[in-house]
Amino acid sequence: MSVPQTAERSVRVLIVGSGPAGYTAAIYAARALLEPVLISGMEPGGQLTITTDVENYPGFADVIQGPWLMDQMRAQAEHVGTEFVNDVVVEADLSHRPFRLTCDSGQVYLAETLIVATGAQAKWLGLESEQRFRGFGVSACATCDGFFYRGKRVAVVGGGNTAVEEALFLTSFAARVTLIHRKGELRAEKILQERLFANPKVEAVWHSEVAEVLGEATPPGVTAVRLRDLRSHETRDLPVDGLFVAIGHAPASTLFKGQLAMDSSGYLKVHPGKTATAIKGVFAAGDVTDDVYRQAVTAAGMGCMAALEAVRLLAEEDHARAHDRLSRHEAEKIGVW
Ligand code: NAP
Repeated sequence: MSVPQTAERSVRVLIVGSGPAGYTAAIYAARALLEPVLISGMEPGGQLTITTDVENYPGFADVIQGPWLMDQMRAQAEHVGTEFVNDVVVEADLSHRPFRLTCDSGQVYLAETLIVATGAQAKWLGLESEQRFRGFGVSACATCDGFFYRGKRVAVVGGGNTAVEEALFLTSFAARVTLIHRKGELRAEKILQERLFANPKVEAVWHSEVAEVLGEATPPGVTAVRLRDLRSHETRDLPVDGLFVAIGHAPASTLFKGQLAMDSSGYLKVHPGKTATAIKGVFAAGDVTDDVYRQAVTAAGMGCMAALEAVRLLAEEDHARAHDRLSRHEAEKIGVW
């Protein structure tokens, strides 16, 4: 029986992740004629594919849709020469260059430079009951699941832009939307808050947390959430048909644990003002390294920076190699080699 051979492929620039950071890095690397390969990952297009209206990405006077914006970025990256691969990186060996990245399909990439643009994924509350009802009334994506709650009662947990946007989106379907927040005020942009609280379907529960998700086992479904008032510690049950968790995101950096430096929350560390990590040839861009701005436009900007830094490094190395060859050739000519 023959042992299956692992396919290995050398690339100059490998980009992992398909959000605004990855796509922008691809556009710049492709325009530098480096023929980048971009591995799309589990959720091609990243977080913007699960949002709806985008009003703050510069260049569009009208409201645009997140999935449309990502389609445009992808088309642009493809048009200038990026190769897209629908695969997931399951193993990364950054101990020496070229870096060795193995995909779920078995394909191995030997990358001279690597741009990590893996983004971030939704955080969960960490309740056993939350996990039990995931997909049966508990969701982290209103855009994906809001449709199932026409005329029903839903709750959204969180106080940031995502929570408010999710709650606003849900008002198009649900009969009542309750926003649950652990503080007495939201951190979401004021314009979004105004829009939310102007909607008669919306109510807020302040200084409270979800202590448990309650529901039926067969057929599985949510019937209520148990709320705990953080000041009085009293609990009460709020009848709902669905719970949307919108408490932020965690960086998707697990793959690089033990190899790339990261902070206590898992955000990859880069040199100040740059995207270069401590490993020469590895760059990080977008939400996987940015816990401050976390915007599509800043991720895109960091993707651009990462590609430019990779292009510069490769050019310097090509130049040094060419110089070495030339010196050797000259030395051979005069017989001193
Ligand atoms: P975020 O800004 O980090 O907000 C997370 C919210 O969840 C906070 O209100 C936080 O409470 C709450 N929270 C965190 N852990 C919790 C827990 N265990 N239990 C209960 N509540 C918890 O996250 P985000 O809303 O996903 O936004 C992420 C970034 O994307 C932000 O920079 C945001 O501006 C950006 N964004 C922008 C847009 C837009 O511009 N259209 C849309 C979406 C997101 P505390 O307030 O008490 O910390």
